[in-house]
Amino acid sequence: MSEPRAAFGRIHSFQSLGTLDGPGVRFVAFLQGCPLRCICCHNPDTWEPSGGDLYTADEVARRALRYREYFGETGGITLSGGEPLLQAGFAAQVFRICQQEGLHTCLDTSGCLWNADVERLLEVTDHVLLDVKYTNDADYRAYVGCPIEPVLSFLAQLDARGIPTTLRQVILPSLNDRKESILALKALAGQYACVQGIELLPFRKICRVKYEQLGLCFRAAEIETPSSALMRRLEGYLADPAEEG
Ligand code: SF4
Repeated sequence: MSEPRAAFGRIHSFQSLGTLDGPGVRFVAFLQGCPLRCICCHNPDTWEPSGGDLYTADEVARRALRYREYFGETGGITLSGGEPLLQAGFAAQVFRICQQEGLHTCLDTSGCLWNADVERLLEVTDHVLLDVKYTNDADYRAYVGCPIEPVLSFLAQLDARGIPTTLRQVILPSLNDRKESILALKALAGQYACVQGIELLPFRKICRVKYEQLGLCFRAAEIETPSSALMRRLEGYLADPAEEG
């Protein structure tokens, strides 16, 4: 197997010890660049592919390894973004080094791209957080900027490889907070043995200032943040077998 090509990757930022991006305690590297334009994006400052700072894969892996004593049995490194698939060759190099050092590797992705580098990346990926933003093509096209098909195809590839996967969805009231929408997500998860769980995440607006600083329109500015009661109700639809009909 030939090694991935990219010598350097573009990194937006690092988080030393996070608990929200994959199993256990994790070192998170946010890769620069994203081809999508989600209406709810918290990180518009990661969009521009030529931004960020240059690092070698070895430098990123060494940074993660500094924290290995905190990772325990379940933690490790997560590559997020932006969209890490945009730098899949580089990401594969990082994960290959980390796996050789015994670190658990987790990929946080929209699943929107597929190529030979992405295949190499999946060979060294232990867990995937797949952001399934909506469950229908029209919403994907309107609020993400791509069709749903590449994402479903990516999920099928994860399933074929048996890579443990968590589906994640940011809840935006009025767009994907209906019972039917949550049950559609649950039904989708049920089609794939690789899916180990579903996480619903509340939409937040703390990113608004980033849009202002970048001179970009925050298209979700008028959308309410979901209440705790709404999130509990939606999580109930996932948990309750009586809601499956
Ligand atoms: S895929 Fe992620 S980084 Fe890209 S626009 Fe959507 S939320 Fe933002």
